[in-house]
Amino acid sequence: MAPGASLRIKSVESSVVALPFDMGGPTPSFAGRPWGHLEILLVRAETEDGFVGWGEAFGHAAIPATRAALDTIVAPLVIGRDADDIEALSRDILHAVHLLGRNGPFVYAYSGIEIALWDIRGKRAGKPLHALLGSGARPELDAYASLLWYPDATLVAKNTAAAIARGYRHIKLHQVTRADVLAAKAAPGAEKARIMLDVNCAWSVEDAHVMAQSLKEDGLLWLEEPVYPPEDVHGLAEIRTHGIAIAAGENTAGVFGFQSLIDAGAIDIAQPSVTKIGGIGEVLRVIALGKARGVKVTPHCPYFGPGFLASIHIIAALIEEPLVEVLWLDMAANPFDPWVRAVDGRVKVPQGPGLGCDPDPEVVARYRSGASVLTTQGHA
Ligand SMILES: [Mg+2]
Repeated sequence: MAPGASLRIKSVESSVVALPFDMGGPTPSFAGRPWGHLEILLVRAETEDGFVGWGEAFGHAAIPATRAALDTIVAPLVIGRDADDIEALSRDILHAVHLLGRNGPFVYAYSGIEIALWDIRGKRAGKPLHALLGSGARPELDAYASLLWYPDATLVAKNTAAAIARGYRHIKLHQVTRADVLAAKAAPGAEKARIMLDVNCAWSVEDAHVMAQSLKEDGLLWLEEPVYPPEDVHGLAEIRTHGIAIAAGENTAGVFGFQSLIDAGAIDIAQPSVTKIGGIGEVLRVIALGKARGVKVTPHCPYFGPGFLASIHIIAALIEEPLVEVLWLDMAANPFDPWVRAVDGRVKVPQGPGLGCDPDPEVVARYRSGASVLTTQGHA
């Protein structure tokens, strides 16, 4: 279709929603900053014919940097472009900013816009995103409880037991010792659950060898990001020889980064992250690569807004053995309730057009901490 004026992107708005939360223990710091709120970097895109889409750009302590990249560079590049030619836009924008970083705020910023454009595409078609992506949609998906880091094994056991009591049958720990894994395995009800361990690149290759050897009989479903730096694909491949399935990819730049991981024999499970990697289109390319190369894909999605909703749709449509990452915490009212919460260890797949849920403006207003708008007329 030739781009008509009505399909052009008229405005892009960024805003931050900061939700209070309780994670069942003291909140950790993140990149040296205290982590007091769940922050969502919301992106709102509007076309000249009045369609509005919502996206989410990564995230956490990177939000001020991502937002600056969005407001000053990426949004001006997309204003006036055809909202429905997402593939061409992705190629052009990511090429235009490639020497500003292939993995970081500029790609995160574009990811948020790209998700919003898919939301618009679904709304324009009158179909939920999962129906645009495939025909195998399911109304509910199994989820796993992704526990945050706790300073002692007692809290690990307590939160593992609590998550199992709430219906989860898969528990991921963000701990770095075997003692913590054993504490989780000994928690009440743990015999009903599988445990995964995510160490967020805590170890050298040498240390990871020692740890993987010690953990090999503990029945872990997977070991995630055992090695720093995450692009050490050959180091990761060495750790995989201990026999524990290796998962990685939330810090991988684009589909070619996943190709390097797979070529090196480094991973069993690929974890593209929709708010970081360039949006839905790039996750689809990673899923296609995984299918072609016999590598499972389990998207990384510890998010609370459109990034989470987009992940649910992708998983519902395209992932054979769905397992949705849900951070283990209780949060205040969320603008995307009820779709961002798991019940009995499962999440529901939204059935409305696009992402299937626009944010509740009253909840956004309650927790909003600033907004800026760029339009075809410039900053508003
Ligand atoms: Mg992780």
